[in-house]
Amino acid sequence: MLIHRSNAPARRAAGRLLLAALVAAGAACASGGAGATGARVAAERGIYRPDVAHARPLTRAERSRFTETSTSADVRAFVDSLAALGSSRVVVGEFGTSGQGRVIPYVIASRPLVRTPAEARRLNRPIVYVQGGIHGGEVEGKEALLALLRDLAFEDYTNVLDSIVLIAVPMYNPDGGDALGPQERNRTEQNGPAQVGRRPNGDTLDLNRDYVKAEAPETQATLRFLAAWDPDVFVDLHTTNGSYHGYALTYSPPLNPSAVFTQAWVGDTLLPALRQRLRLKHRIESFPYGNFVSQDSVERGWFTYDHRPRFGTNYMGLRGRQGILFEGYSHDPYPKRVASAYTFLYELLSLVGDWREEVVDQSREADRRATGWGTQPDRAPTFTLRAALRTPSRREAVLVEALERTGDSVRTEPGLAPGLRRGRVRPVVMPIYDRFTPTARRTMPFGYVIPASETRAIALMRRHGLTLEQLPGPMTLAVERFTIDSVVRAPRRFEKHETVRLEGRWTTAREPLPAGTVLVRSGQPLAILAMYLLDPETDDGLVTWNVIDAALRVGGTYPVTRLAQPVLEPLTVLDR
Ligand SMILES: [Zn+2]
Repeated sequence: MLIHRSNAPARRAAGRLLLAALVAAGAACASGGAGATGARVAAERGIYRPDVAHARPLTRAERSRFTETSTSADVRAFVDSLAALGSSRVVVGEFGTSGQGRVIPYVIASRPLVRTPAEARRLNRPIVYVQGGIHGGEVEGKEALLALLRDLAFEDYTNVLDSIVLIAVPMYNPDGGDALGPQERNRTEQNGPAQVGRRPNGDTLDLNRDYVKAEAPETQATLRFLAAWDPDVFVDLHTTNGSYHGYALTYSPPLNPSAVFTQAWVGDTLLPALRQRLRLKHRIESFPYGNFVSQDSVERGWFTYDHRPRFGTNYMGLRGRQGILFEGYSHDPYPKRVASAYTFLYELLSLVGDWREEVVDQSREADRRATGWGTQPDRAPTFTLRAALRTPSRREAVLVEALERTGDSVRTEPGLAPGLRRGRVRPVVMPIYDRFTPTARRTMPFGYVIPASETRAIALMRRHGLTLEQLPGPMTLAVERFTIDSVVRAPRRFEKHETVRLEGRWTTAREPLPAGTVLVRSGQPLAILAMYLLDPETDDGLVTWNVIDAALRVGGTYPVTRLAQPVLEPLTVLDR
């Protein structure tokens, strides 16, 4: 489906032609040439193009022989040059603006080229969204995505851009990415480059904890983008922080048990097929993302991260879309990490292109079934609102990388303590903790009733793309109301919040509701997301992040109620 190594001679010829054309036009936009050394290092593993010296434009990583990473200005210049150099497969747009005023570009890449969501939908093929650099110091996803965009955009032959619509945001967090500092400070455990950005955005928010509360301008831009483009696949590119293992890359599906349409398909079908391709075609070992409790007690198990939708790929799972987390191996040298990320992306896009009908069907089916369940909740399954990582799903061999003492106090590589070096990789059979156990499950209501006075909650639900309606006059409806027995506030502030957990009990009553009361019907595609955001017992919803807060007290009631009957009367639909 995609360009491959067997095409290399033809591609090199095409590259030379392109280069000649550029020189003739005087349009070379990236100065300098990637030395053979840098290119060779990058090609050690994976399929990063071996002839990078002939490529145009060059990424900053390539220009610097993989000693530097692109700033937001570099990214902007690079993506603008794709179109300027004549690719008919890309168009550049503005995704949003960061808190410090940096424009975040996106690139739409497909053949035929599309410019609007309507044009993309008419192609009836997967829309795949890929973002790099949500954590500013984790840089290889950005570099790999830029290089892959170029290689796909200028490839003369049929490639994956004939099967999917790719939308790339190479540098999602430009304020964090441009806050360059020494790797020893900004990414203590990362093996280069020497200068990298920092993790949070310009307002010190971790953008990969913001998908529920959506406080950052970057997240708000995402929600506008999702409402318009509704991508079928969402890929988030990171670098690990911890354990020494034997994998060039690790990955994760949505982990929330309420991601009923995507967790199993991504986790048990798509990603294992990708793992197989990476192993057979490229001899790259990969594994579901996780960490050891400590490097000294690896036999205790391999633990994944978190199921809550504050994380982007989990959030996408609750929207009924395929979320894929990528984690490059921070202890691998920078050029190898770029090559691993490139190969992962190349094969992932290829697989999605090969399975395009199924991927598109998955989205349609998720919308149809969620809407159906919300319309007739007695036919719906129960949904998880809280979960914990309690039991292993299986025992399996995990590749463990040993750390050995060198006998002196010299630092052997960036990110590793002096006196240590990375040693042998060996498989160790251990319990794998990668499935969350539900600790609270609830039936789906007909909808949620929000008092008009809860303006922040109403605004946030609209941001998330939910359809909201308003009672044009007073109505009496059957509702379930939650009486609060305890309000548990986290002892430490987190992301500028004192997060909240509620305990309580439910009672049913017919209640008179005034005109202007807002209804979020479950009969819509985002019904499961609505439940997770609005329910008082959720572990990551509006109550968690103090959006619904002022009225919370022991003995009081949670202001949002569950609708316990269908509403057949037409209501006033609020504009998005
Ligand atoms: Zn990260």
